[in-house]
Amino acid sequence: MNQLSLSRNTSDSLKTNGKPAFAPSLDTVQQVDINEREFRRASQSKSERWTLRTPTKRDIVDRLERVSADDALRLKNCCSAFRVLTCGEHTLRSYPTFRCKKLFCPDCAAERATRLGNQTEAKIREVMKTTKGRLCFLTLTTKNAATLDGGLVKLKKSFANFKRKKVFKKHIKGYFGAFEYTFNPKTNDFHVHLHLIVLRGKFWNQSDISDAWRDVTGDSFIVDIREIKNTHKGVKEVCKYPMKPTDLMTMPDDKFLEVVKMKKGTRMFVSGGCFYNVKLDDDADETDENVFSQFAELTEGDACPFCKQELFDVLVDRRQHIGLHELNAMPNIVKNNSS
Ligand SMILES: [Zn+2]
Ligand SMILES: [Zn+2]
Repeated sequence: MNQLSLSRNTSDSLKTNGKPAFAPSLDTVQQVDINEREFRRASQSKSERWTLRTPTKRDIVDRLERVSADDALRLKNCCSAFRVLTCGEHTLRSYPTFRCKKLFCPDCAAERATRLGNQTEAKIREVMKTTKGRLCFLTLTTKNAATLDGGLVKLKKSFANFKRKKVFKKHIKGYFGAFEYTFNPKTNDFHVHLHLIVLRGKFWNQSDISDAWRDVTGDSFIVDIREIKNTHKGVKEVCKYPMKPTDLMTMPDDKFLEVVKMKKGTRMFVSGGCFYNVKLDDDADETDENVFSQFAELTEGDACPFCKQELFDVLVDRRQHIGLHELNAMPNIVKNNSS
């Protein structure tokens, strides 16, 4: 699992292991229907729809160079070199020497999604051991907003009022969720929504939720609730990337800059009730992605658990690193170079 996530992080091409570097939206079927259809009808002709591809990191750097040189450089340097712990034959651990930690960076977004997914799943399973209820996936949407910040503020405010409602407390024992946004180039505005995992006590039907949501938003009523059959998949849906990378390429410069310059530390998560302790650290340091590795404890000088050779620390560039994970072994050249 860790191997897969690492090789996905370090992909600078469109696809890794046959999967897109950015997973497609995992929205529930109905939600995808509403959003995608609406989005596509408004934004693209039939032919455009099929030619829009996921931008690579290079594409994003190119675009960024024209609007913000600083950010372009940071993005370019992100994950360009890695520290690797290896015996020369087996790769036990690796992490980039620098991460930009931007939400629009394909490398950092993938790493964040994996890390948050792992943390959250463990915590939710822990809570579920002692609390009864049905785990559900709840999506709340608001009308499009001219600015990303404006859209986020409005949704956060609406949700704050929503969770205080009697009817919310009556049905929901705990919630955990993340904000997500898409961009509509035809109307030139953002669509911000909130994906939640909720622990539902009493059954709460969609039209009642919709009414309650309209009460707090005034104008928005599109909601979706469904039971989660697979906790792992459910958590993944919430912890995925907060935006569609293709949107980055369709937005005008001012909107693009708004996304790029989004305040560091802007809260993208909510949690409460019995999931109050499902708090996520969105600013983990570089080594944190190895926390879930079974080899996290090993250091230089220890014996490789597979072949008993001595482990050493080495610096490799991005290309070597990708090769390394494809082979799951350290190319000999690297070992020779470093000694
Ligand atoms: Zn990055
Ligand atoms: Zn070994």
